[in-house]
Amino acid sequence: MSVPPILLSTEQIQERVRGLAAEIERDHAGAETLHLLCVLKGAFVFLADLVRALRIPATLDFMAVSSYAAGTTTTGEVRLLKDLDIALDGRHVVIVEDIVDTGLTLNYLQEILRARGPKTLRTACLLSKPSRRKVNVPVEYVGFTIDDRFVVGYGLDYAEEHRNLPYIGVLD
Ligand code: 5GP
Repeated sequence: MSVPPILLSTEQIQERVRGLAAEIERDHAGAETLHLLCVLKGAFVFLADLVRALRIPATLDFMAVSSYAAGTTTTGEVRLLKDLDIALDGRHVVIVEDIVDTGLTLNYLQEILRARGPKTLRTACLLSKPSRRKVNVPVEYVGFTIDDRFVVGYGLDYAEEHRNLPYIGVLD
């Protein structure tokens, strides 16, 4: 298997994650505890680094959704594969996502999570591809804006491979 060339190095990612954590802390200054929702599987590495960079108490939960491959659907319908364990009512919630592409997955997630009555609901995405957006979905914390390239590593896969690369690489 060939090694994907580096788009964003480990050092660049670590520095940006620290910056995102600082932004999140600033916006939740009045909150006693933050509740981070990790969208599996792609966001697991980002979540692990982000939660350790935060200096306010945080609780965690995990959910899994099936993202239809780009081009196979325009409906934005997303299947929930694993739901949350903990109720959201009254919590300060931050969704932690790997990448926002068309925005359809995140749009769906925000809708169903908002309906569960969190006190606040914000979203952190490590990566964003604005040129691919189909719906205008709010993302309060964006790590890096990238061009329309297929990226892997730092949790992101291609057919379940490359998730363990310590950097973000490009496959195309
Ligand atoms: P969206 O609903 O925004 O189009 O899709 C978001 C999901 O598609 C992401 O959570 C991710 O799983 C997948 N995705 C989009 N772009 C890429 C990419 O460049 N690389 C990888 N590995 N997954 C991607």
